[in-house]
Amino acid sequence: MESTSLVTHEQLLSTMQQYWGYEGFRPLQQEAMQAVLDDRDSVVVMPTGGGKSLCYQVPALCKPGLAVVASPLISLMKDQVDALTACGIQAACINSTITADERRQIAADIRSGSMRVLYLAPERLLSERMLDFLAGADVSFFAIDESHCISEWGHDFRPEYRMMKTLKESFPGVGVHAYTATATETVRLDIAQQLGLVDPEFLVGSFDRPNLNYRILRRADRLAQIQEVIARHPNESGIVYCIRRADVEAIAEQLNAAGVKALPYHAGLSDVQRQQHQEAFIQERTDVIVATVAFGMGIDKSNVRYVIHAGMPKSLESYQQESGRGGRDGLEAECVLLYSSGDLVTWKRMLGDLPDAAQQAAMRSLDALDHFCTGAECRHRMLVSYFGQELEAEECEACDVCLGTVELVEDGTVLGQKILSSILRTGERFGADHNAKVLCGSRDKRVLEFDHDKLSTYGLLQNESIRSVRMWIEQLAGQRYLAKTGEYNVLKVTEAGRELLRGEVTPKLTKPDIADKAGPEKSSG
Ligand code: ADP
Repeated sequence: MESTSLVTHEQLLSTMQQYWGYEGFRPLQQEAMQAVLDDRDSVVVMPTGGGKSLCYQVPALCKPGLAVVASPLISLMKDQVDALTACGIQAACINSTITADERRQIAADIRSGSMRVLYLAPERLLSERMLDFLAGADVSFFAIDESHCISEWGHDFRPEYRMMKTLKESFPGVGVHAYTATATETVRLDIAQQLGLVDPEFLVGSFDRPNLNYRILRRADRLAQIQEVIARHPNESGIVYCIRRADVEAIAEQLNAAGVKALPYHAGLSDVQRQQHQEAFIQERTDVIVATVAFGMGIDKSNVRYVIHAGMPKSLESYQQESGRGGRDGLEAECVLLYSSGDLVTWKRMLGDLPDAAQQAAMRSLDALDHFCTGAECRHRMLVSYFGQELEAEECEACDVCLGTVELVEDGTVLGQKILSSILRTGERFGADHNAKVLCGSRDKRVLEFDHDKLSTYGLLQNESIRSVRMWIEQLAGQRYLAKTGEYNVLKVTEAGRELLRGEVTPKLTKPDIADKAGPEKSSG
């Protein structure tokens, strides 16, 4: 192996060509590899499918010593090790599934210097025994995969990541490199701080996936909405995400009954079943995998042509990651999210169990997802701006808003003004539900109790359904004309809202959709 200082761009490239057969670097890969070679700590943020693994695997071959990778999932580690072995690179993972003999052999290979890459779960890596062992081995650098798990501000905090700071303390001269597919600026800085990185290099790839076409529909007849998407992709691969196992089972069954080849995937199935269903999907013996979020991490299938969220994801980060499993080959893929405010309430309830800081962070990203769905702005722009980036193109040409499939009401200004005036008249002391009832002229007990049937705005939108008015209120909030405050999401008119009242701006308010005409939701979850 080469000494670090002599490794050049050409050598990185030739190593990559020799072992993987790839012709060139993906964006930021070269810079990320260089940081590893230079022993400069780094935080690398690349979207799913961006090629993060190579950022540490190629330098592992160019640098003398053992590269140690912390990774959270056993199945993920095994896949990575198999892939490296297939490329002729000596790699291993130590976890509960290996025998004592295998473990002794791995230790011997590390001591002899033939082992190049070692994968470990964080808690094992940080055990005293492992740290002692590694102190006697020639560790070239540490790579931390899924590193957003270290941050309480992230959407997937894992306490076992917290002790990771020990690495910098126990191995002061050794480079530590953090990788993640999803991190806002706050999370990026927190990753660096929590790991105790020294003057790290931040490398952040583009979050836009121009080949993904985003569409958001209000969930109405869930099965029909799913089938409509599948029908556009005969014999192509797709993923349907649900929140609950029961929904996974139900939808998989309904699809099969309708003649679609679909298999379920969730944590309630046995390891063997999960493995079989995953393989059937990868080998294209089934078209559709209906799954909870348990499915997808580390799955490398490039030709997924659609990702449907039949249940809402828990954050905008999760949505970016889960929808990002579509179109990894760079060809077009369709991402359809079935919006349900009921699901948001479900998530809020579940997040209630988290510790304080984590709960706030999770609530924020859940709200961001809500804005993303209920706003009527370019979806690509909203997604990348959440990650602190800007979209270059004026129109993305790949989302329902820019393609004009979201139908807007003709006079959004007047409609918006009616709603805001009413919210002012009720004293900015109520939430969306109550205000919608006032606008629709409801005889609801509370409306009468507060004498809100005496207001001039009472019944101003009596020809609309309460559901539509609620949706517009959400859109106005999503576009920041209204702010939701306090525990009960009390609505207040913002500065932008006052501009709207003066007629200086026009909000984008969508036409009531099929869901409204069909009445209340037919299915939940
Ligand atoms: P990530 O971890 O960022 O989601 P992976 O490391 O799994 O992405 O890479 C995604 C796919 O792209 C893998 O099949 C990988 O082998 C492939 N890949 C990575 N880098 C390159 C490259 N420079 N050229 C071609 N294919 C690449």
